Amino acid sequence: MASVEKIDLGLVDTVVAESQGRPGERTFKVTAAGRRGRAIVWLEKEQLFQVALAIRQFVAATERPGDPDRYTPEYQAPASGIELEFKAVEMSLRHDRSTDVFTVEAASVESEATAESESDDEEEPIAVQFSFSRPSGVKLSEQALEVCAAGRPRCPLCGGPVDPGGHVCPKSNGHHKGEIKFA
Ligand SMILES: [Zn+2]
Repeated sequence: MASVEKIDLGLVDTVVAESQGRPGERTFKVTAAGRRGRAIVWLEKEQLFQVALAIRQFVAATERPGDPDRYTPEYQAPASGIELEFKAVEMSLRHDRSTDVFTVEAASVESEATAESESDDEEEPIAVQFSFSRPSGVKLSEQALEVCAAGRPRCPLCGGPVDPGGHVCPKSNGHHKGEIKFA
């Protein structure tokens, strides 16, 4: 399939995790907004949890640089304000050491999608990325973990929700599907 043009929101002012719906039927989204526009990315709880967990673990394991470089967006600003809303199929997270900035990438299709999958979906594929500072990342991570836990007790090791039936902790055995890796 044709490569998807990536939309870059640049360094956003706010990035917020939320859930909607009743317990058991909740859907999850991340809203990123800044000077270039706004993107609402719907995602699975597991995806949200893994992003939050990856940020939390990264922040805990690294020092904040004393004098980070100024962040410059990777891609040119679009002509007008961006307004996007889509369901993420693929998500990734990375961190730039020199600026101490996190970047989340989300796409409505898999990057390795084969030609045949093109025909069953007429919708234009969407790929967006947005970046945020370490303090914003910490806030997002804590908030996202709260949203995922939704009032349930949280595991002291990984921050994930502990269900009445127990909890498979990614910190203790590594068994966790859909793990987000730093690119
Ligand atoms: Zn745990």
